[in-house]
Amino acid sequence: MRFDALVIGAGTAGAVTARQLHRAGLCTLLVGRPATGFKPGESLPGAARPLLRDLDLLTALEHSAPLPHLGNLASWDSDDLIPTDFIQDPNGPGWHLDRPRFDACLLEAARNTGVPLVATEVKQVERDAEGWRVGTDAGEFTARFLVDASGRHGVLRRRLGLARVCDTPLVAVYASGPDTQADRRTVLEATAEGWWYSAPLPGGRRVAVLHTDSAHASQLVHAQRLWHQGLAATRHLHRLCDSASGWTPLSATGAGGTALRTPQGQGWLAVGDAALAFDPLSSQGIFNALYTALRGAQAVVAQCSGDTASAGAYSAQLQQVRQQYLLRVRHYYQSQPRWPQAPFWRLRRDLPSGR
Ligand SMILES: Cc1cc2nc3c(=O)[nH]c(=O)nc-3n(C[C@H](O)[C@H](O)[C@H](O)COP(=O)(O)OP(=O)(O)OC[C@H]3O[C@@H](n4cnc5c(N)ncnc54)[C@H](O)[C@@H]3O)c2cc1C
Repeated sequence: MRFDALVIGAGTAGAVTARQLHRAGLCTLLVGRPATGFKPGESLPGAARPLLRDLDLLTALEHSAPLPHLGNLASWDSDDLIPTDFIQDPNGPGWHLDRPRFDACLLEAARNTGVPLVATEVKQVERDAEGWRVGTDAGEFTARFLVDASGRHGVLRRRLGLARVCDTPLVAVYASGPDTQADRRTVLEATAEGWWYSAPLPGGRRVAVLHTDSAHASQLVHAQRLWHQGLAATRHLHRLCDSASGWTPLSATGAGGTALRTPQGQGWLAVGDAALAFDPLSSQGIFNALYTALRGAQAVVAQCSGDTASAGAYSAQLQQVRQQYLLRVRHYYQSQPRWPQAPFWRLRRDLPSGR
């Protein structure tokens, strides 16, 4: 059987794109191994509420039992903790997500719509005259149109050798541990080596993350006590993470901004982090996964029905998002005046104004 569309990756962007395509009448297959265990990327701003409503996914969000995200406390441009209260936000407060659970609820919504899921890894992608052949341990699948929702890994980018822009490298080194605090706000703190945040997670745990450069991250991963010492030495964050035991081993992942030079081509399109990934400082990744799923699915439907006029619209929308993001993230980094000689901060004062 040849599918109209095949989506690679069963994360946020993949599950929502597959569901949208199926709802628009395209026979769609989703191929990807759902996440197990802890996954960072857990704060969703209230600005996502109208988007989730348009996608008819507010109930799926509620089923994932998120905590309300009422605001942030940031020690960024000074030693003081400055509050930002989301109660004033016209869209209301945001959410702290149990991310694997949230993704599982989106996947369930896709499957309830009728999208079949093959829970396996994509190993091969080949193109032929009629479309795509996708190889997995569970067999080969064929489709006219391919959507890459495989996150930063970028299955299709690697396979087709697609060009990508990478901003200043940034690595997130993280662990989760017990939450002993009643205050549900996210705390963010700049230090000489980079910046930390900690946020509560549903289920009585919290995450703590240091965003730093590659060399320091590699030191920390090899001597984990240094990460715990760094956390203990923070001015504010250490109070939230006061439990000495019960922390998971450290993990590290790339977290710098990246963008495909073009997120779509003949017979393919990328969504979520596979198309456009952000520095977590922007807290924009999950929103973007939802937004590109909505817009990307519309672009696929248009292309499959022979509407060539709309072909560039999706690329133009993503280009606009990236320009706005670059302006904002550069402003954030430049507004942090301390440690002018520290390599982490020196590098980030010269972020590009837009590409
Ligand atoms: C430390 C950190 C903190 C963050 N904090 C936030 C935050 O607070 N708020 C926010 O909005 N964003 C945050 N983000 C970003 C956010 O997590 C991502 O933008 C979001 O996960 C992107 O969703 P996605 O579906 O595009 O990709 P992913 O969630 O990465 O999903 C991709 C899926 O593809 C699968 N896949 C990969 N390769 C294959 C293959 N070969 N075959 C089949 N499947 C494959 C993966 O297993 C995965 O399930 C953070 C990121 C980091 C690193």
